[in-house]
Amino acid sequence: MALQPHLIGGEWVASGDGRENRNPSDLADLVGVYASADKALALQAIAAAKTAFPAWAASTPQQRFDLLDAAGDEILRRRQELGELLAREEGKTLAEGVGEAARAGQIFKFFAGEAVRTGGERLPSIRPGVEVAISREPLGVVGLITPWNFPIAIPAWKIAPALAYGNCVVMKPADLVPGCAWALADILQRAGLPAGVFNLVMGRGSVVGEALLDSPDVAAISFTGSVETGKHVAAKCAARLAKFQLEMGGKNPLIVLDDAELDVAVNCAVNGAFFSTGQRCTASSRLIVAEGIHDRFVAALTERLQALKVDHALKPGTDIGPVVDDQQLGQDLRYIEIGQQEGAKLVCGGERLNRETEGYFLAPALFTETRNDMRINREEIFGPVASVIRVKNYDEALAVANDTPFGLSAGICTRSLKHASHYRRHAEAGMVMVNLPTAGVDYHVPFGGRKGSSYGPREQGRYAVEFYTGVKTSYIAP
Ligand code: NAD
Repeated sequence: MALQPHLIGGEWVASGDGRENRNPSDLADLVGVYASADKALALQAIAAAKTAFPAWAASTPQQRFDLLDAAGDEILRRRQELGELLAREEGKTLAEGVGEAARAGQIFKFFAGEAVRTGGERLPSIRPGVEVAISREPLGVVGLITPWNFPIAIPAWKIAPALAYGNCVVMKPADLVPGCAWALADILQRAGLPAGVFNLVMGRGSVVGEALLDSPDVAAISFTGSVETGKHVAAKCAARLAKFQLEMGGKNPLIVLDDAELDVAVNCAVNGAFFSTGQRCTASSRLIVAEGIHDRFVAALTERLQALKVDHALKPGTDIGPVVDDQQLGQDLRYIEIGQQEGAKLVCGGERLNRETEGYFLAPALFTETRNDMRINREEIFGPVASVIRVKNYDEALAVANDTPFGLSAGICTRSLKHASHYRRHAEAGMVMVNLPTAGVDYHVPFGGRKGSSYGPREQGRYAVEFYTGVKTSYIAP
């Protein structure tokens, strides 16, 4: 199988090393062999982006609109095929993959519009005859480092604003899922981006990622991934005063109060905790349930989980695809053991499943009788595993929800306007969901969290401008 090359300075560059990209639903299915860069290639990409920057920064908003809009159109037109590629390389179901591909297209079209909408401000000075203008300028070369769990949407929500606001990009996708990022690079290249404006360098975090963190020519780093890597990115960027933003893990609470509609609460839990195989930073891994509804909720949720079809991501009827790889599967199984050792009750799932094809299939696992201080409730597992924590009432639920080192998304199921409003104000999270799953967001509004989940300006929507531009204040005396 031919090596899928990097995109550097407008040229496709196939380096010597290659990495096999295998389908987690079927290990016999080789999705592709993707080039894996060394440091020299990463530096070459940074240099190409630096060379391209002055002209791209001076391009008109209309030029940027046209390119991003064309890319968005192509992604939307090819959503089925891209969604299938995504499902093959990451293991989301086909419907989830197609939905994510469509989201990437919508994001490009949104930021095409932002390219022409972004403006500044003009104010009178406090001094006579002087005017003050506030404008936004691109930063230069930005390094984008992404995780494996949203192989097309996360690259899109970093690439599109970076380019819309006039920056040049060096993108390093997660080693496990280079295919979708490669497809995006191909689409951008054919949309007619000038050479060097967008560069794709695939490979290891410790090689390509480090090169981006260390280079004085990379003005800013946008990172999404684990807390551990995020802290390393922060330390490296802070040491050389580069701008950075981090989106990291979660241990998101979903509160279910006694007055919740049972169906709504169960749907929120099934979707939020288990869809996409639970591999979402916004997954509702802690289900905080009031004692009056607890038993009915657990019974209904268990019934739903046992009816879910776990199988090949591309098979019609599959509800939950495989875990992404053997390492993540090992982590999930270890936490399922830890939960039992801690005294939690495993009411269903948690065992590896055999299917027609060899893959990393895991039965969705539900723990009950858990306490919030257990490791399974404090550490991000990142798999189809959720815990029920029984509480007396709303006040205790709120305290438990906020007692976590994370703060990404927080949900509540209730019919009480009073409790929903109070929760909206007091949940220590960047996003609050009322009678909705903790996962699943819109693209035109800010995305991000607090505490150990996020650092720096928000991503997505108009708020993305904060990260991808710098503010300049000019004083003008005519
Ligand atoms: P990870 O931290 O292992 O890797 C993320 C990226 O960092 C990858 O591209 C990796 O190659 C790169 N990297 C690794 N070491 C590096 C280094 N030394 N220097 C520079 N780059 C390096 O995370 P992952 O396992 O790919 O993704 C899962 C994590 O991502 C979970 O914790 C999840 O919660 C988080 N996540 C967060 C969000 C969010 O928006 N908050 C969204 C999706 C995923």
